[in-house]
Amino acid sequence: MKFIASLGAGAAVWLSLSLNAASAQDLNVLCAVQVEWCQMMEAVFEEKTGLDVSMERRSTGEILDRVRAERAAPEIDVWWGGTGDTHLQAAGEDLLEPYQPKNFEDTLPWAQNFFLMSGGKAAGIYAGALGFGYNSDFLAAHGVAAPSCWKDLTAPRYKGLVQMPNPNSSGTAYTMLATLVQLLGEDEAFEYLAALAINIDRFTTSGAAPVQAAARGETGIGISFIHDAVTQKLAGAPMVIVAPCEGTGYEIGAVSIVKGARNPEAARLFVDFALSPEGQETCAASGQNQIPANAKASLPPAAPDISLIRMVDYDFATFGSPDQRRRLLDRFDKEVLQTATPVATQ
Ligand code: PLP
Repeated sequence: MKFIASLGAGAAVWLSLSLNAASAQDLNVLCAVQVEWCQMMEAVFEEKTGLDVSMERRSTGEILDRVRAERAAPEIDVWWGGTGDTHLQAAGEDLLEPYQPKNFEDTLPWAQNFFLMSGGKAAGIYAGALGFGYNSDFLAAHGVAAPSCWKDLTAPRYKGLVQMPNPNSSGTAYTMLATLVQLLGEDEAFEYLAALAINIDRFTTSGAAPVQAAARGETGIGISFIHDAVTQKLAGAPMVIVAPCEGTGYEIGAVSIVKGARNPEAARLFVDFALSPEGQETCAASGQNQIPANAKASLPPAAPDISLIRMVDYDFATFGSPDQRRRLLDRFDKEVLQTATPVATQ
């Protein structure tokens, strides 16, 4: 437990609430955003409440698998961050506890719609669009022209020069799979992915790893969320960010409380904090660039303006269904991963 002597009056209320709530127990949070944000949320929430939080970073699909595996005796209290379809899949499998966050009325319409869609079991906390980023120095050194569309990525000139995440573990990659099915139709999407696999040199576990590898010059092009590419560019990488010409999909990142959580009151405090302006602003403060759900939170200065991006009318209900997830991942394993030649699933 950590106590801060110089708390103001508002924080003192929080503190007494949290003391009643948690009685010196831990709060176990699995976090699917970037580790810098996970660490900052942990520190700020602990400082504010005196609660002792265990915060672990995992990719979104890995968290879903863990929550499923612990169904009978949950160790995890809160699942914070990661793509909303995967939270909806968990809601559909009755793995989550309903809870309406205190700041719900201040959240933007897309977050409110998402919450209703989940049956009140997962709250939208941020949004961001999918795309790719390329290392302009790397492509120039290899003498290849830059891509601007999804279809460009299958061109033979990019053989071995592209990375994408694996949708079994990565929520980013599941968003990509669902986006392509919505853009192209299902059979055409799998034909596209099988052609793209020829150019993939690595299917990464995490969604941000492809643009991080491109930023380091280990590959030419990384498929990830655009805000992850922005973070690399701001850190000084020669990264060019692409919103694909055909259009793209987007995520609503979410937070949810695990059904049967050991510390439900502390879990609710965490969710309230995650949706508060202060909690939302830990995104920008930790160098991240998602769009916050709370209209009263300030936007990270470099957050991409998604209203300028050609976007599919993303069908969260369909792609958030557990049956659809299982079926699409089975197809991906058979028709894309098993026929791919790269260093698979790193
Ligand atoms: N990092 C950021 C910045 C995200 O917005 C998201 C999605 O919510 C993720 C990571 C998800 O990571 P992964 O694709 O590894 O599940």
